[in-house]
Amino acid sequence: MKFVDLDAQFNLVEKEIRDAIDRVLAHKQFILGPEVDVFEQELKAYCGVKHVISAASGTDALLMALMAYGVGPGDGIIAPSFTFVATAEVIQLLGATTVFVDVDEATFNMDSARLEQTIQTVKDDRKLNLKGIIAVDLFGLPADHDTLQTIADQHRLFVLSDVAQSFGAEYKNKKAGVFGNIATTSFFPSKPLGCYGDGGAVFTDNQELADIVESIRFHGKGHGSAGQYENVRIGITGRLDTLQAAILSGKLKIFDQELDQRQVIADIYRRELNDVVITPTTPPGYRSSWSVYTIRSAKRDKIRQQLNQNDIPSAVYYPLPLHRQPAFKNALGGGKMLPVTDRLADEVISLPIHPYLQPDDQMKIIDTIKTAIG
Ligand SMILES: *Cc1c(COP(=O)(O)O)cnc(C)c1O
Repeated sequence: MKFVDLDAQFNLVEKEIRDAIDRVLAHKQFILGPEVDVFEQELKAYCGVKHVISAASGTDALLMALMAYGVGPGDGIIAPSFTFVATAEVIQLLGATTVFVDVDEATFNMDSARLEQTIQTVKDDRKLNLKGIIAVDLFGLPADHDTLQTIADQHRLFVLSDVAQSFGAEYKNKKAGVFGNIATTSFFPSKPLGCYGDGGAVFTDNQELADIVESIRFHGKGHGSAGQYENVRIGITGRLDTLQAAILSGKLKIFDQELDQRQVIADIYRRELNDVVITPTTPPGYRSSWSVYTIRSAKRDKIRQQLNQNDIPSAVYYPLPLHRQPAFKNALGGGKMLPVTDRLADEVISLPIHPYLQPDDQMKIIDTIKTAIG
């Protein structure tokens, strides 16, 4: 049994992907070849967003989005501590200060009441120029984007929506990618839509931001006739390569089917485990992309041990929240301000939920957890 079974998926799309790779090998436009443009058009249509700029990774996508807003030293950016390190790493990398905010116990996503308090505290403190919020859709479930956006708008803050784990998810009939003023995702192999290497994308309806991100992606190139050798700003090498774009187009064809499969598996977990552990909440109007299935239990370590003994893969996302990591010692809002984050770190465990999980394997996982709980 595998936590993410890329073999089973490959068997389904092998011909499609080998043909796509061969096409790229034939024309050899490895950087910004035609497949990149095709994939970006497909993403636009899929998410219903005006502009898509594909990127070298989810982390580069986040970085470029913050760079487009000119984030730097003296600026404060609010982010959850209960997330993958990349979400807040990019804030620190730009010399800005991360201000952590706690998450909601039921959804694992940013708590809007705590967000308002945190904004007020930072404003009263007057040390930082508060610029924006990074909202994460943890484990595939969208955050409460309308509420977060309303609060952000009131305080003239931008919302960067980190949909690295929720690509394909929906909130009030809108796809992840359209949430926030700008959104970023990752195509890391184990994400809901994964490539065969690193990849990511930036999404926005704002033409000006899109132009800036596109420039940053290519060393800050200009838009004039001097093209790539005119440098109007400092940028990076942030491009998705052509081979990965070709592979992603192939996988996008079966992606909705895979999301349906994940939902079926999630429904079974819920039905079978709801009485023994805390299963994840999906509020009305939300659809998760189920990048992982994360349950909570005070007996987490016992469950983990029992799963290990039965050769069942599991994972703890995230055992050490960012505010307790040495790399974030300069960040604000940590310490005892994040009680839910600290509690979740002790109680969560993520189970396999890839689309090709076999029914008997899922039953084995469920039975093992029931045995562990006793
Ligand atoms: C995976 C992930 C990222 C980073 O994506 P990479 O493609 O690995 O750089 C950012 N944010 C979150 C929430 C993630 O899960």
